[in-house]
Amino acid sequence: MRKISAHFILDGLGNCYNKGILTVDAQGTILNIEETDGLLKEQAGVEFFSGVIVPGFVNAHCHLELSHLHGFFKEGEGFVPFLKKVVENRLIEAGSIVKAAERADLIMHKNGIVAVGDISNGQVSFQVKYPSKINYFTFVEALGFSPERAEKAFSWAKQCVQGANDMGLQASIVPHSPYSVSDELFRLVAEEAIISRLPISIHNQESREEDELYRLGTGEMRQHLEENLLLDTSFFHPTGLGAMQSTLKYLPVENNLLLVHNIHTNQLDIDFIEGIRSLENTWFVLCPASNLYIQNRLPDIGLFRTRNLQICLGTDSLASNHQLSILEEMKVIQALFPNISLQELIGWACINGAKALEMGKWLGSIEVGKRPGLNLLSGMDLGRLKLLPKTTVKKLC
Ligand SMILES: [Zn+2]
Repeated sequence: MRKISAHFILDGLGNCYNKGILTVDAQGTILNIEETDGLLKEQAGVEFFSGVIVPGFVNAHCHLELSHLHGFFKEGEGFVPFLKKVVENRLIEAGSIVKAAERADLIMHKNGIVAVGDISNGQVSFQVKYPSKINYFTFVEALGFSPERAEKAFSWAKQCVQGANDMGLQASIVPHSPYSVSDELFRLVAEEAIISRLPISIHNQESREEDELYRLGTGEMRQHLEENLLLDTSFFHPTGLGAMQSTLKYLPVENNLLLVHNIHTNQLDIDFIEGIRSLENTWFVLCPASNLYIQNRLPDIGLFRTRNLQICLGTDSLASNHQLSILEEMKVIQALFPNISLQELIGWACINGAKALEMGKWLGSIEVGKRPGLNLLSGMDLGRLKLLPKTTVKKLC
C-alpha cells in the first residue's frame, strides 16, 4: 500500500484536490482519496511529488502495426500522397514490424498510456498486444472498395478477430473509411456489429478528396483507387452527398462509435450525425499532431466544444507522428487554445477514451475501486494549471 500526494490531483471527472492524498494498493487500485484543502501536514509514509497527478491516459486511436514507418514520410505532403506511401511501404518482413511495434508499446507505457484503441489490418501486432502492460481494444479493419471483394475481406477480418480472441484480446470488425469499403462490405460489418455490440470506429472526414469522390466521382481519391490500388471503379456511382453522409447510415446506432479525425466536420455535419444516432454513444477522436503532420490542418475544436461533443484523443500511427504520447497531443491543443482548462483536456485524454472503449468502469478516472494508473505531470505552470512545452509525464503506478 502507498500513500501518494502532489500539489494537485485531478481525478479526471472535473475535481481538483489541492495536496490531496491517494491511497493505492500494490496493484494500483485506488483505496481512498483524502482531501486536505492544501493543508498537507507532514505524515509518515506519504510520498509527495511536485506537480499534478492525473489518471493514466487512453490513446483512442493508434496503428501499432505501422510503427516501423516512423520518420519515413515528409510532413505536409497531403492526404492522398500519404495514403499512397503507406500502401507502398507497409508490408515488410514481419520481424521488423514486430520489433518496431514492441518499441512503440513500451514507449506508450512509459508515456503513461494505459489503454489503446488500436487498428489492425492483420494479426502481426497481436503478439505485442497480448503480453503488454497496456489494455488494448483492437479494431480489425475491413478493407475493400470493390464490391466483389466484400466476402473475402470480411472473412479475413473475422479470422483476425478470432486470432485476437484466441489470445485473449478484445476485438471488433470495423470499416476503415468511406473510400475503402464497399456498400456490401459495410453491410457485412454492420451485421456483425449488431451481434457483437462492441465499439466500432471509422476514419471520418479526414480529407476533402473523399467528399469529392462521393459527390462527383472525380478527383485525387478516385485516381488513387484506380492508379495506386489498380481498382476497376466503374461500378461506383457518386451519391451527390459527402462521404460521411453517404455511409454513416450503415453503422448500427446501438454500438459505441469512434469517429476518428473529423478534420472537415462542420456544424451541418454534426446536425446530420445527431439526426442519425445519439451523440451519447458517439465519440469524436482528435489526433491533432497527426493531422498537422499530414495536412497541416486541425478539426474545428472550438465548434466541437460548443456542441458539447464527447472528445477523445489519439496519436494515430508513427507513420504520421513524431511520438506516441497523449501528453504531446494535449500540448498541441493547449498551445492553440490556451483557454481550455487542464481539467477539460484530462477528460478528453482519460475518461472519454475509456468510456468509448468500454473500459470506463475500471480506468479513466481516479475513483475508489478503479485501477486507472497514475501519471505525474511535472514542469507545469502550477499557478494557472496549464501545460507548458517543457511539461513531462512520469508513471507513478
Ligand atoms: Zn488512423
